[in-house]
Amino acid sequence: MSDRNVFEDAVTRVERIGLDAGVAPETVDALRQPGALLTADLAVRMDDGSTRHFVAYRCRYNDALGPTKGGIRFHPDVTREEVMALALWMTIKCAVVGLPYGGGKGGVAVDPKGLSRLELERLSRAYMRAMADFVGPDTDIPAPDVYTNARIMGWMADEYEAIHRKKTPAVITGKPILLGGSLGRDEATGRGAFVVIQEYARRVGLEPENTRVAVQGFGNAGYHVARLLQEAGYRIVAVSDSKGGVYADEGFDIESLWEHKQSAGKVEGVYCTGSVCEVVEHRKISNEELLELEVDLLVPAALEGVITTENAGRIRAPLIAEVANGPITAEADSQMRERHITVLPDVLTNAGGVTVSYFEWSQNRQGYAWTLEEVRERLERVLTRAFDGLWHLHQTEKVSIRDAAYAMALRRIGEAIEAEGTRDYFSGD
Ligand code: NAD
Repeated sequence: MSDRNVFEDAVTRVERIGLDAGVAPETVDALRQPGALLTADLAVRMDDGSTRHFVAYRCRYNDALGPTKGGIRFHPDVTREEVMALALWMTIKCAVVGLPYGGGKGGVAVDPKGLSRLELERLSRAYMRAMADFVGPDTDIPAPDVYTNARIMGWMADEYEAIHRKKTPAVITGKPILLGGSLGRDEATGRGAFVVIQEYARRVGLEPENTRVAVQGFGNAGYHVARLLQEAGYRIVAVSDSKGGVYADEGFDIESLWEHKQSAGKVEGVYCTGSVCEVVEHRKISNEELLELEVDLLVPAALEGVITTENAGRIRAPLIAEVANGPITAEADSQMRERHITVLPDVLTNAGGVTVSYFEWSQNRQGYAWTLEEVRERLERVLTRAFDGLWHLHQTEKVSIRDAAYAMALRRIGEAIEAEGTRDYFSGD
């Protein structure tokens, strides 16, 4: 649920910050629309012999800094506008952390939970058949996103290789390890978010043991960030997934909650039927309630547009770490600033995923696999360097952390565009 069209929202933010940061008009013009967008109809054979049609998208938003990069989402609410907004955010994100990539994104409007395993494989392969000339290791490199995973990336890589008749692992990241995946890719988004939260905590004196945390969305990103925060001493008092949430004042043991979710399929049921239910006093809460809890740190890690002008006034957490992409609409974001709620923006906080995807792509091209320690150490280095840079901008230019991240990204993209010449250059000024 967003306040306005999610794509218009994303462009408006670029225009506003671009103007405030003195970015050349050529850069903002280049980011008002996607470079290329492919829409396809996927006709997929169902197990009962019938054929169903699904709308699929792939967007290469802007490639000034390198080939485009971004995940593929399988979700019933996927739209063209959502894919374009996500691709624009990827463009900003890759520039914030200094990766040699532009931004892209893909999606299929489908409820994958309603498909059998074989139907899901046919759908994944159909997606890659439709996109096989649009993606590639030097043009556009997909990865997992909501409701897609390593196995799906493996099927897609295999389909691409069958079409092009050669092994090309660098066409897609987030693959299973034996098919060329990188160690540490599964936890990368959560670990990156953890590094960013710790960098912030260190600067403002936030103490883990006095920090109560609520996490919305207990999937890949939400689980790993919750796990790492708990290991560092933070108290995770609330967690939710698409079916609802649970709250416990004394905090949850994330590892056992995760194990139970794997077997029961949801966090809500887990605490009613699983053994943890007997050891932790808890109550069921809705996703809306979770967002409005009086906690010290709120971590939206599910979908975009969950904090809007409708509920912004009821958010009580003084700090929000955006692990999901775009969880706060632009209008609600202004209210966060007015209410002095600090937001660690998505374009930095969840950049760990694309950073380790970049490591995977590099390893595939080198034909040399790194150790888990190397991956973790390099990830931390990339994110702390990015945080340092934008914290400096945030302090010296007196702008929000989000505005600092956008300003840094837009300036980098602007430099790449300028290197090929702008009006000033050609008119001899
Ligand atoms: P995932 O599919 O592993 O998990 C999504 C989780 O969100 C699931 O637990 C699901 O039950 C829950 N969910 C869905 N609808 C919900 C709702 N309405 N309310 C509460 N929970 C809901 O996906 P993921 O990869 O963890 O992605 C989560 C977010 O993180 C997305 O916004 C994604 O774009 C972003 N992200 C992911 C990565 C990555 O590498 N996986 C990288 C960057 C950003």
